[in-house]
Amino acid sequence: MKKLGLLSLFLILSIFIAACGSTDTKSGKEEKGGGKVYKVGVDTTYPPFEFKEGNDYKGIDIDLINAIAKNQGFKIELSPMDFGGIIPAMQANQLDVAIAGMSITDERKKVVDFSTPYFDAGLTVVVKNDNSTIKSVDDLKGKTVAVKKGTTGAKYAQDNAAKLGINVVQFNDSPAMFQEVSNGNADALIEDYPVISYAIAQKDLGLKIVGDRLNGDQYGIAVLKGQNQDLLKKIDKGLAELKKDGTYDKIIKTYLGE
Ligand code: GLN
Repeated sequence: MKKLGLLSLFLILSIFIAACGSTDTKSGKEEKGGGKVYKVGVDTTYPPFEFKEGNDYKGIDIDLINAIAKNQGFKIELSPMDFGGIIPAMQANQLDVAIAGMSITDERKKVVDFSTPYFDAGLTVVVKNDNSTIKSVDDLKGKTVAVKKGTTGAKYAQDNAAKLGINVVQFNDSPAMFQEVSNGNADALIEDYPVISYAIAQKDLGLKIVGDRLNGDQYGIAVLKGQNQDLLKKIDKGLAELKKDGTYDKIIKTYLGE
């Protein structure tokens, strides 16, 4: 009897300990063994940088952050969300890192620290295929322009709305913004060049790019300002090593070809 009592006590204890262990891992903060798991904010859907295929996230940003983490020996957990929510989530300490086709801007540098640039993008104007009157940003007077919340494209449109004489409408994600122009509800949209050219090549969206790029936006990986200097150093070191050993080029080639 006494033996049995001890045995069940032991069993209950082991179940309790196992349960504690699994809660720890689930919280995404501390891994078993004490290593921190960094929460990485990514856009919900932003091919070729991030997109869902089956149950997996894929894309240049996803492969890049996984490769950097592997190279530098840290652990990550992806947290997909609307782009407009990423910086607020960082400020609320809900994310440690963001890689989301995020352009490096002076305004954002006030709230996050950026890695060295990893991709040249730049904004562009996009219209319906059969539109023959809008040939550049200068032809947008009196037009409705779709943008995505919290992006440099949205900022460009808002900052220049009066000068260009445009009406700006905002969307939470890129597919919704593309749809608005495809179905004729908006006359034009502003999106990052590599993203819209990839989308047009992949799908028949009925859209085309017009005019020159509006700026020279470059993408960077963001970490919490002033709080994650060690992590930022690792990210920069990892990025440099992946560029040197050919991994970076391989990742770009996987999604963009030559
Ligand atoms: N590069 C743009 C920005 O940083 C858009 C990013 C995005 O939509 N994921 O604002």
